[in-house]
Amino acid sequence: MITEKGHNFLEEIISEELGAGKFPNGIITRFPPEPNGYLHIGHAKSICLNFGLAKQFGGKTNLRFDDTNPVTEDTEYVESIMEDVKWLGFEWSQVLYSSDYFETLYQYAVKLIKKGKAYVDDSTAAEIAALKGTPTEPGKPGPYRDRSIEDNLALFERMRNGEFADGAKVLRAKIDLSSPNMHLRDPLMYRIKHAHHHRTGNNWCIYPMYDFAHGQCDSIEEITHSICTLEFEVHRPLYEWFINELEIYPSRQFEFARLNLNYTVMSKRKLLQLVNEKHVNGWDDPRMPTISGLRRRGFTPASIRHFCEKIGVARRENVIDFSLLEFCIREDLNKTAHRVMVVEDPIKLIINNYPDGKVEMMPGEVNPEDTESGTRMIPFSKELLIEREDFMENPPKKYFRLFPNGMVRLKHGFIVKCTGFDKDANGNVTAVYCDYFPESRSGHDTSGLNAKGVLHWVSAAQAIPVELRIYDRLFSVENPNAEEGDFKSYLNPDSLKVVEGFAEPALASATHENRYQFLRKGYFCLDKDSQPQSMIFNRTVTLKDGWKNN
Ligand code: ATP
Ligand code: MG
Repeated sequence: MITEKGHNFLEEIISEELGAGKFPNGIITRFPPEPNGYLHIGHAKSICLNFGLAKQFGGKTNLRFDDTNPVTEDTEYVESIMEDVKWLGFEWSQVLYSSDYFETLYQYAVKLIKKGKAYVDDSTAAEIAALKGTPTEPGKPGPYRDRSIEDNLALFERMRNGEFADGAKVLRAKIDLSSPNMHLRDPLMYRIKHAHHHRTGNNWCIYPMYDFAHGQCDSIEEITHSICTLEFEVHRPLYEWFINELEIYPSRQFEFARLNLNYTVMSKRKLLQLVNEKHVNGWDDPRMPTISGLRRRGFTPASIRHFCEKIGVARRENVIDFSLLEFCIREDLNKTAHRVMVVEDPIKLIINNYPDGKVEMMPGEVNPEDTESGTRMIPFSKELLIEREDFMENPPKKYFRLFPNGMVRLKHGFIVKCTGFDKDANGNVTAVYCDYFPESRSGHDTSGLNAKGVLHWVSAAQAIPVELRIYDRLFSVENPNAEEGDFKSYLNPDSLKVVEGFAEPALASATHENRYQFLRKGYFCLDKDSQPQSMIFNRTVTLKDGWKNN
């Protein structure tokens, strides 16, 4: 029996309950996505919480598709959701669908009608709204509220049989039109919608509302802790009312603060717009806050779980800085990423005193953080490529890269001293000339020379060209939802830059499973569009947090 004291309020509640002997068969939680989009990092928080609690306390978690809205749902989403939950490292006890319970829910509604607790209302949506009152003013009964039980039963059956048009009638719970909680003022239970459902086809033309489906599904599955985000707190009295009136398994609802992340949006409706209007290249675009986007960007399941642990679970709303997510992936990748040298925007570095045609293979650790990771061999020759940024004709003070008469160490190579350079007609440097010191070879340096700067480089003849996709924040403002006008007008126009790079040959054997640290440049992973002859790498994250200084 687990009696350990919990860390967050839910862990505390559960450990107390278990300590008091409740739930002898273990707790049951559920993760209830609506299959109307791909999962995002906010869902990851809910997944880690629901699956995490069950794991911690020896319980079970159901994956339940909350598919009560036929118009927006699709099996493509169902499949992507299952893939994402598995990828995050969680195992569900069962996959279930709210739509599997449509008949039971219908019978529950009939039961409430028979108790005089539900009625068919012919009013239009506008008429219902007009009679509902305001939070400070009670609602008024409409003309259909006191229909007889027999009439209600007959009409509800005819609704099911498809005798009425969309919107012609609804089924409402008969609760309390003067309740200060608007959700108790005779809330809707069923609406008519002649629409094809991705699982039940055309079997149904009436569909239950969220409030009449969610708690009842929890109860059918004997969910002990139904955990949802804070906006559902005001629905809780209704959740409990239905369960009490139906006298079914008493599932209970608990609320926690949703994850808000800056520089992005997380509403599925908005993410869908970005996809449909082609502001991004699909749901798994590496700039998207979706699980599939983060996966393609190079995030690992462990880094996302770590992030969810770090942000914690509370009942207070706040906004998490995107940098925290980046911190978590950096920490993970530093331990596992294979080191390689990749040069972008290159200039030639020619070593005057190195023999023509000679190629030496220099050893470099695959990962200095992991002594088991072994060594890769890096060709060194007379003609190398370095980054244009790493040479300056007239450097400022404390410039530790290359400049005329300056010295640097070429990583895993030798110390070189700049003897001159070429410029083209436009004044752009085209080549840098150096002498090298044979006795300064990395690992066997007896030269006594001291070079402050260390540059990365590749051998020109052996370098392989690669495409680098450099990502930045998707939006250029912290909270696109709070800005005036269309949130899409705050998209960051520089969120994707494509540049050509030249890599050491070891990168030719890159795999989708491995992650790479391009020295001094950042962490990268192979993109799914990559081909052996034209490799594409996504920058997952920079080596350091550069965003704050921008
Ligand atoms: P959206 O508004 O983006 O469509 P949703 O809440 O309607 O999101 P669901 O598919 O209904 O999406 O969510 C499944 C579960 O994930 C729910 O329990 C919901 O509370 C939770 N969830 C959704 N977004 C977040 C978030 N940002 N932080 C934490 N949990 C979330
Ligand atoms: Mg929802």
